[in-house]
Amino acid sequence: MQVPSQMLIDGKWVDAESLATSTVLNPANQEVLATLPRGGREDARAAIDAASEALRRAESMSAFERSKILLKAASLLEQNAQEMATIITKNVGKPITDSEAETARGVLTLTFAAEEAKRLYGQTIPLDTSPFPPGNMNRLGFTIREPIGVVGAISPFNFPLNLLLHKVAPALAAGNTVVVKPPTDGPLPALLVAKIFEEAGLPRGMLNVVLGSGGEVGDEIVTNEKVNAISFTGDTETGRMIAERAARTNKKLLLELGGHNPLIILDDAKVVNAVNSAVAGTFSYAGQVCTATRRIILSERVKERFLTQFEQAVGTLKVGDPMDRTTSVGPVINVRALEKIDGLVRDASDKGAKVRMGGSRLGYGELAQGNYYSPTILDGVVGGMEISQKEIFGPVAAIMEASSDEEAIELANNTIYGLQASIYTSDLARGIRMAKRIKAGAVMINDRTNLRWDNAPFGGIKRSGMGREGVSLAIGELTELKFVVANLAE
Ligand code: NAD
Repeated sequence: MQVPSQMLIDGKWVDAESLATSTVLNPANQEVLATLPRGGREDARAAIDAASEALRRAESMSAFERSKILLKAASLLEQNAQEMATIITKNVGKPITDSEAETARGVLTLTFAAEEAKRLYGQTIPLDTSPFPPGNMNRLGFTIREPIGVVGAISPFNFPLNLLLHKVAPALAAGNTVVVKPPTDGPLPALLVAKIFEEAGLPRGMLNVVLGSGGEVGDEIVTNEKVNAISFTGDTETGRMIAERAARTNKKLLLELGGHNPLIILDDAKVVNAVNSAVAGTFSYAGQVCTATRRIILSERVKERFLTQFEQAVGTLKVGDPMDRTTSVGPVINVRALEKIDGLVRDASDKGAKVRMGGSRLGYGELAQGNYYSPTILDGVVGGMEISQKEIFGPVAAIMEASSDEEAIELANNTIYGLQASIYTSDLARGIRMAKRIKAGAVMINDRTNLRWDNAPFGGIKRSGMGREGVSLAIGELTELKFVVANLAE
């Protein structure tokens, strides 16, 4: 299946009304992958109008018809999995094996949504008789789940397929229509998703994709009266701005934001396993994962043992071309990201952290054209260093030390974020006791921080988000519960 090079609005593949374009680069080598329309507010408005009109078409479809289309989309994605994985890797620099895994998960997300579409159950509610005159025993009260309307889906670059599907699939399963604003760095998978839904037979206008900047296209979606809900995944600061702007039209918000996820390794931990999880948690997709391990909080007693093994393991990671199956760490998304990572590493080392490994950009040999940063270990990170509070979104391990469980919990909770956390211990009860005190949407015991299951609750607390994804939960967020009472005595 060919990746389209236009936007999908009201069932037509179109250029921007202004005819503006922008190029899409491969972060591994700056190759131009495509020239795409750069939409503006007028294009976003056309897409929102189309989605609003399409609500009537959506209403006339049964849940079973919606389910069938989602299942067909799952099957088309599976048939085009290699094409999709390659596009993800070229567009956002994700190692190809990870892109394949993301695509397989995308198939699952669509399949879960197809199943959940048929389970939009309501309830009958026993009604209290006391405040009413006699005869109310003849009333029947029940709930029905209705679509919320037009959903604005604004997605980030780092999982350009599956995080988009976590918005689009539940929204469509629930009978909504959708306007998608893909990330400016990483729009190609969204265009292929739109093509897949077109081929799966989704009626015109139910899914629209508008390319363009967050400040224009994104803001139009966030502020337009005809959009009823925003499902957003991205940076915490962007999420805050969106929440403020969306409040003016009282939109329902589902926000999946940044994280600063701690991995706590206690004195009784199986160090070998903790090392494996720390490597995978910190360096998968060059640390550009919302649930990546941002701080490794070590009990004093295991610190040196852990660091020796960790250094050895990180030293074996192959940095390079993400299309190469043996690559573990690819490039970061753009030069701005490289500079931010380098700035935070420098701030920490200026304030006393020891760079045990890496700590610089990789700009030589075959890596010279790409946005590569060396896998980095910073020891002795303490409060006051920016990296202890800011989400670095790069391949950097920040090592902290705790002298007790109490101190480990305090350190873990001491950021504005609350997405995910991990605890390594051989004492399960101790792990569960600590898990209950960690302020996060999810806590893993003896596992890595960067885990997610597509049908399980997912989302952060504090500044990491609002609401929950996980297909059935996202359907809950993107529907309204209507209460109906029938007076059977009349
Ligand atoms: P980002 O916030 O820069 O961009 C996300 C999307 O928002 C893009 O499509 C962008 O164009 C759009 N946008 C930007 N400004 C906007 C505005 N004013 N109005 C409307 N839309 C706007 O995030 P990113 O760099 O693409 O992604 C990385 C961030 O996403 C990290 O902070 C990461 O932790 C977070 N993230 C969170 C989760 C999660 O599920 N919690 C998952 C993945 C990524």
